Amino acid sequence: MPVSGLPPYDDANIFARILRGEIPAKTVFEDEWALAFHDIAPQAPVHVLIIPRGKYCSFADFTAQGSEAEIGGFFRAVGAVARQMGLEAPGYRILANMGEHGGQEVPHFHVHLFGGRSLGRMVPAG
Ligand code: AMP
Repeated sequence: MPVSGLPPYDDANIFARILRGEIPAKTVFEDEWALAFHDIAPQAPVHVLIIPRGKYCSFADFTAQGSEAEIGGFFRAVGAVARQMGLEAPGYRILANMGEHGGQEVPHFHVHLFGGRSLGRMVPAG
């Protein structure tokens, strides 16, 4: 069941297609819980997307419906990707857009990982 008021999971979304191997991605990490790949339109020197393997539309859906194992495994994977990309010492930012006000475009939950330069203010003005 989707989270109340949110649309059901769309199996045709682009990240579902990447998970099924139907379209290519520049994979940097994968394990039982997560797949990570370079964003197609990077907004920082390092811009990687980390997605859970399960069918979750958004952060809201994932945290409401995901199992403890999925949630734990996924967030460990986010940390592992940042470590693997050499970002721990200089630092990095993680971000998840949720819904319309969050600016979410792809309806499969994902975390953005940004790094490789100083990232400035948390939320741009305007
Ligand atoms: P969001 O606005 O949080 O839903 O972010 C979606 C992100 O997915 C954007 O940063 C896009 O550049 C990225 N994106 C869309 N299609 C692809 C793709 N085929 N491979 C990698 N990244 C993609």
